[in-house]
Order: sequence, then C-alpha cells, then structure tokens
Amino acid sequence: MEAKPISILHIEDDVVDAMVMERALKKLDLNYKLFKATNGIEALEMLRGENGKAKIDPLPKIILLDLNMPKMNGIEFLKELRADPKLRHIAVFVMTTSSDEQDRTEAHNFNVAGYMIKPLSLESYTSIISVLNAYWKITDLGSPD
Ligand SMILES: [Mg+2]
Repeated sequence: MEAKPISILHIEDDVVDAMVMERALKKLDLNYKLFKATNGIEALEMLRGENGKAKIDPLPKIILLDLNMPKMNGIEFLKELRADPKLRHIAVFVMTTSSDEQDRTEAHNFNVAGYMIKPLSLESYTSIISVLNAYWKITDLGSPD
C-alpha cells in the first residue's frame, strides 16, 4: 500500500531556518507535504481556512514551531491551538533560539512533544525529521484520516 504523505506545518519567521528545513526534507526523499507560515496568526488561518487562506486538509500531523516571531509568537500560538477542539491534538515540536527557562516551561505546559534549541545544522534537521517520520508512522497507526 502506498504510504500517505506526511503533512508538516513549519511555523518560522527566519528565512534561513525555513530553507534549511526544506533542504533537510528534500535530502531525506520522504513522501511529505510541507506547509509554511511565518507567524502564529498566519498558521491559525491556514489550519482553520480563514481570511482567504486555503485550509490545510487533512490537518498536519506535526507542527514545527519557532517561538520568537512577529504578530503572534509561538507561546501565544500554542495557547490558541490547545484551546481549539479541532486543533488541540496536533503534535508540536518547538525549535527555538530561546534558552529561556520560562519559555521552555510554558511550552511544556502546552503539551509540546519536543523542545530543541537552534541554531540547528542541516544534519540536525535531517535527523530530527527522520525521528519525526518514524514517530508519525507509529502514531498514525489506526488513525482514521
Ligand atoms: Mg524567529
């Protein structure tokens, strides 16, 4: 049976970090669909199909989230995501330059699956994606969509 594409939403305002992630995905040659947002507001619009943004359908299995972003930062985004019954189940991995303990504690209070400190090399992104791919395959078993 043909594997379904892995749907990933990368929320990141840094152009270079976004590019490195894209390169890591290409390098791994996985069956994936990458969606990109540059702040929390844009990401929520894509997840909900609001303000003229096409809804990501089916919803992504994994969100990779930066914390320091304009308009709506990662912590504010997590708060909204976890308060939304349609979106609260999505696994979120934080990738941030912030080594602030308060950010880490807050993120964990919103049930993040992982917390990684940037900068991350192409190799680090590649290994993170490989792990997420395995994670996705396991957690996707028995899921209806
Ligand atoms: Mg940032």
